[in-house]
Amino acid sequence: MSNYLSYKYKNLVPYVPGEQPRDRKYIKLNTNESPFIASGHVSLDSAIENIMLYSDPTCLKLREKFAGIFNVGIDEVMFSNGSDEMLNFAFMAYTDKLTPAAFPDITYGFYKVLCNVNNTPYTEIPLKDDFSIDVDDYVNLNKTIFIANPNAPTGLSLPLNEIERIVKTNPNNIVVIDEAYVDFGGETAVPLIKKYDNLLVIGTFSKSRSMAGARVGYAIACEKIIKDLNAIRYSLNPYNINSLSMLLAINILDNNDKVLGNIEKIIENRAYLTSELQKLGFETLESKANFIFTKTDKMSGKELYLKLKEKGVLVRHFDSDRIKDYVRITVGTKYELDTLIKKTKEILGV
Ligand code: PMP
Repeated sequence: MSNYLSYKYKNLVPYVPGEQPRDRKYIKLNTNESPFIASGHVSLDSAIENIMLYSDPTCLKLREKFAGIFNVGIDEVMFSNGSDEMLNFAFMAYTDKLTPAAFPDITYGFYKVLCNVNNTPYTEIPLKDDFSIDVDDYVNLNKTIFIANPNAPTGLSLPLNEIERIVKTNPNNIVVIDEAYVDFGGETAVPLIKKYDNLLVIGTFSKSRSMAGARVGYAIACEKIIKDLNAIRYSLNPYNINSLSMLLAINILDNNDKVLGNIEKIIENRAYLTSELQKLGFETLESKANFIFTKTDKMSGKELYLKLKEKGVLVRHFDSDRIKDYVRITVGTKYELDTLIKKTKEILGV
């Protein structure tokens, strides 16, 4: 760091994204991308011809298409450069020294980083021993609550009635439900936005819609919340969705059947992977996401991760105490999973 860096950021611990190596070709099961293409044929010609113009800051066409499919009003939705950006808008809008944040001790690592960069105090609420959320911990909490549902990296999911209990018992605070992985078997809280003005649902096109590289995230909430978030967005980067990504996002919404087919394949492959690993003695949490969280008593999570990497298969390991025995494996194609299983057998010597 230079001497010029503001004191505000001297102690910043930036988020460490999963590896995106370019040194060799890996079977890449470490960052929960989709292994499948979802879009149909899309002509980017007109977008490229007009690339000298700024993109539409209101994302009107995309919002209209999205609102129809998600059954919400066009003023109940807005878009961001990946859902990470929307999470930042939410931390900026709804947390401060007087309104701290709260989230599970084991969850998406970005929440803590966003608290630090925004100078927001936070509480990490321990998950139960089985890594599930104890909803009673969140009743009348008096803090801005962030819950990934399904959670990451566990893959465990809370039913809608439990989410509703949290939203209902915190009427003076915003409850953010991060639904990055909801399409793989979770229950969406979107219908509840009509009933609760303190609920903010955040989602992404990076997972089930196969668009991680295009960076498209969204928020769904009552109009007033969307207005708050837009005020922040227009104060930082009004053109946060570029024209090419906007076109691709519209195209993918037109190809919903393909998306649904891909989700089905992921769910099928997830069951296959879980049962193949079970045959090798692995214990896997019940996942409603496009990844599984699994462990073996034959070696540590770190050792398994390193040995798989040596053999050209990337999975994710987190070096924090409660979960260091585990690895998180993205559900890939059948071929990718068979390779992972073969390499795992070699490593275990079975
Ligand atoms: N929320 C959760 C729980 C995630 O795991 C991720 C992906 N790392 C994101 C949000 C952000 O995804 P993106 O910025 O690609 O939309």
